[in-house]
Amino acid sequence: MKKEDCIFCKIANGEIPANALYEDEVVKVIFDLSPASRGHVLILPKNHFDNVYSLDSQTAAHIFQVAVKIANGLKTALNCEGLNIVQNNGEAAGQTVMHFHMHLIPRYKQDTVNITWVPGENSEQKIEELKAKIIPYL
Ligand code: AMP
Ligand code: ZN
Repeated sequence: MKKEDCIFCKIANGEIPANALYEDEVVKVIFDLSPASRGHVLILPKNHFDNVYSLDSQTAAHIFQVAVKIANGLKTALNCEGLNIVQNNGEAAGQTVMHFHMHLIPRYKQDTVNITWVPGENSEQKIEELKAKIIPYL
């Protein structure tokens, strides 16, 4: 369940050496090559999944358990004042490496990280329309 020519498959499975922060049978946690902040890490599953849509529920659950462990470690060790968990799916969402990965980005007052959007507006009608569209697929 590895993909040829996938850099994160190679890193997660040791074909390309990486200075891992944590590793178990399912995931490897590595430091981001171009960190947004001090302590920015990525959780990579060892099996290849392009994105969240193809993740099986056991791996998904494990990844989030590891995220909690690493988040607590980062908070205690680095005294970060906040932490963003970011996970991009598809080019439109900013995904650049097409192997599922979860970013843990420690936040510090006056850091230069920028994760923002322009708030829109919702209404009961819009929410009802969305529910009618989405719920049949859940
Ligand atoms: P995304 O935009 O969500 O696909 O994030 C890809 C992330 O992977 C970026 O933050 C990159 O800096 C990081 N990255 C790309 N190649 C490597 C690598 N070889 N080792 C560690 N991080 C990498
Ligand atoms: Zn891969």
